[in-house]
Amino acid sequence: MFERLAARLQEAIDRLRGRGRITEEDLKDTLREIRRALIDADVNLEVARTFIEEVRQRALGQKVLESLTPAEIVLATVYEALKEALGGEVRQPTLKERNLWFLVGLQGSGKTTTAAKLALHYRSKGRRPLLVAADTQRPAARAQLRILGEKIGVPVLEVRDGESPESIRRRVEEAARREVRDLILVDTAGRLQIDEPLMEELAQLRAVMNPDEVLLVLDAMTGQEALGVARAFDERIGVTGLILTKLDGDARGGAALSARHVTGKPIYFAGVSEKPEGLEPFYPDRLASRILGMGDVATLAEKVRAAGLEAEAPKAAKEITLEDFLKQMQGLKRLGSFSEILSMLPGANRLGGLQVDDKALKRLEAIVLSMTPEERKDPRILNASRRRRIAKGSGTTVQEINRLIKAFEDTKALMKSLEKRKGRGFMGIRR
Ligand code: GDP
Repeated sequence: MFERLAARLQEAIDRLRGRGRITEEDLKDTLREIRRALIDADVNLEVARTFIEEVRQRALGQKVLESLTPAEIVLATVYEALKEALGGEVRQPTLKERNLWFLVGLQGSGKTTTAAKLALHYRSKGRRPLLVAADTQRPAARAQLRILGEKIGVPVLEVRDGESPESIRRRVEEAARREVRDLILVDTAGRLQIDEPLMEELAQLRAVMNPDEVLLVLDAMTGQEALGVARAFDERIGVTGLILTKLDGDARGGAALSARHVTGKPIYFAGVSEKPEGLEPFYPDRLASRILGMGDVATLAEKVRAAGLEAEAPKAAKEITLEDFLKQMQGLKRLGSFSEILSMLPGANRLGGLQVDDKALKRLEAIVLSMTPEERKDPRILNASRRRRIAKGSGTTVQEINRLIKAFEDTKALMKSLEKRKGRGFMGIRR
């Protein structure tokens, strides 16, 4: 997510590291870099300007603290400004006893997929969803939702060709009553562009059905364009909240960082994969810390829980062996894409190029298996000749072994700093 923006912001701030003092000139340079990074990430100009001003004010207003370096102060102020731009506190739609929500958006934005994702998300929270395929003109759009509904086991009510808003409302109410449904998700019609007849149809449907929420689904990959769409939908139909999709792709960040300012609407959810499970509440603080490479321990912890992995009595950093490390990576692999997991660990992007996919994991396994128990326990005894022996035995290279040891040591250091913060380690995930 937002890799390029993240790399550039971190680079700009990193340049201040190791400095006891920074001059106003230094701060100006850093802010210029940050501004460029934001603009290149397709952040709205006005948003970028406000953002920089905010950071400048905060950084200058910050008292010089003995415990913090200038780089840390700038990092913290950029973090606050990022979190603010992303919407501040996490916001979620209000749940009532019975809920009727519209999903609106352009065709291809991910509206139908998101309707199914929401059904699944809220069902896991004990709600009884009903999906409504409400495109009165495109049978294919209705079929798509029907198939998704079947896949996740949620009932789908399909409107008829040309059905009137009044008739739709009546049938939806009947179905909701009959099947005891308390969350009705209406997947409204979408078109490739803003289209006046469609807007009129949606406005009428809204007037008749009176939804509690009108959720606008926006494709984050379309950047600023998405925000033009948001304005048009809001003016014509009224929008209560946003859902950004395809944040797993190479979206640059512009839409997410500008949406709040430009539309004034909260971002409720983020789509992070094509699968029905790929929806997450939108957490501005977590995303901000991820963008700044501060890691995202909270999301990681949640993922671990969701994958049903039990955290056994965690080992202290100093007791960790290479075998634990390997087991850890095998366990993590089951949670999702490795680079995704790694990017959530604080400082992990500095782990120095330990790319772990299936193939790499096999090689790491081979390396660890070629070691003696003593070596696995304490890799510090691995001198050059031992490393050569292991490389030969595992069919790998000394460089790969060096990288593994380096990553292992870095992880240990990382755990130590986490232990300090949290009072315990996070290793100890067992399969
Ligand atoms: P609609 O026309 O707005 O209903 O859009 P669809 O739900 O049909 O989605 C369009 C395409 O985007 C489909 O191929 C989806 O699988 C894909 N898609 C939707 N949401 C996401 C997401 O969060 N991540 C990714 N990678 N793909 C998504």
